[in-house]
Amino acid sequence: MVSKRSAPLNFHQLAERIKRWGAQLGFQQIGITDTDLDRAERHLTHWLEQGRHGEMHYMARHGLRRSRPAELVPGTIRVISARMDYWPPGAREAFAVLDDPTVGFVSRYATGGDYHKLIRKRLQRLVDRITAQVGQFGYRVFTDSAPVLEKALAEKAGLGWIGKHTNVINQAAGSWFFLGEIYTDLPLPMDSRARNHCGTCTACIGACPTNAIVAPYQLDARLCISYLTIELRGPIPKRLRPLIGNRIFGCDDCQLICPWNRFARTSNEPGFSPRAPVSDRKLAELFKWTEREFASRTSGSAIRRVGYEGWLRNIAIALGNAPTSKVVVTSLESRSDDASDLVREHVAWALAQHR
Ligand code: SF4
Repeated sequence: MVSKRSAPLNFHQLAERIKRWGAQLGFQQIGITDTDLDRAERHLTHWLEQGRHGEMHYMARHGLRRSRPAELVPGTIRVISARMDYWPPGAREAFAVLDDPTVGFVSRYATGGDYHKLIRKRLQRLVDRITAQVGQFGYRVFTDSAPVLEKALAEKAGLGWIGKHTNVINQAAGSWFFLGEIYTDLPLPMDSRARNHCGTCTACIGACPTNAIVAPYQLDARLCISYLTIELRGPIPKRLRPLIGNRIFGCDDCQLICPWNRFARTSNEPGFSPRAPVSDRKLAELFKWTEREFASRTSGSAIRRVGYEGWLRNIAIALGNAPTSKVVVTSLESRSDDASDLVREHVAWALAQHR
C-alpha cells in the first residue's frame, strides 16, 4: 500500500465526507476504526481451538491475518466499515414460510441477487470519490471475500454490537444488513465502539432449532443450520436432519426472534428484491430442477454456492420433514436412483420418515 499525496489533508473533514458519500451510494452507515483486534483475536483463537468452525478450513488456514489487517494488507492503519440493509421488499413473511412445510425456506439474505458484487462495486465507487478528493492512496475493498473479521470491525467502528447470536445488531436498524470494508492507509479519525444492548435477553439462544448457540456469544457452526445447508459439503448428520424443518438454504431464526429487529427497515435496493424462481417455492417443484435449471435459475444468486448436489440434499431433508403425502413421496421416489451417492442417501433417509 503506497499513498501519493502532496497537500496536507484535513482528515476530520474527509471522514465526514466519506460518510456523506457512503449514504449517497446506498449505505445506511459508515464507521471508521483502527486495526487493533486483540479481543476478537482471542475469541477467534478459542473458537478455532474448540473446532467450532467445522469443515470451514479456510477459517483456520489464514491464521492470524484475519485478525491483523496490516498483515493481510501491509500499510493498513484504518478500516472503513460499511453496512447496507437488505430485508427484501415484498418478501413473504418469514414465519409464514417456516410454518408451511411444503415450501422451501431460503434465508432472507439470499432471496434476492448476490450481494457481493453490488457492495463491492459501491465500495469501489466510494474509493473513487476519495481518490478524486485526496489523490492516490493505499486501499483494498472487501465484502465477505477474504479473511476479514468484519463483525468485530463493524462493532469497533460503531455500526452495532455483536449479539449473543454472534450477528451484528444496530440499535436503530436491527440486524438485517450486509457488511463491507475498505482497508486503508489514510489516518482518518475513529468512531467509538458500539455498546452492547442484549441485556438479560436470551431469546435467540432458545430459538435456535439445533441449539447451535452453545453459550452467549458462542456459536458452534457444526450445529448451525446455515453451516449445515450452505458450507458443509458432505452428508448432514442424521440426528440434526429432523431439526432442519423446511430450511433449504440457511436459517434466520435467531434474527427473526431478536427484539431489535422490530426496528429493521425494508431495503430500497432493487437488487435485493426476492427472485421468483427461488423464493418460497414448493419443495416438490424445486426438487424437479435439472442441473441446467439450477444453474440458470440461481444465476447471480448466493444460492449458487451450495451447488446442485447440495441443493438436492437440502431439499430431500425438507421433503423428509414434510407431512406425508402422495406428492412428497412421489417427489422423493423420483430421485431414489439419483446419480449422486449423497443425494441417494438423503432421499433414502427422507423416504424412511414417511414409512
Ligand atoms: S435475541 Fe436477545 S440475546 Fe439474542 S442477539 Fe437479540 S437481543 Fe441479544
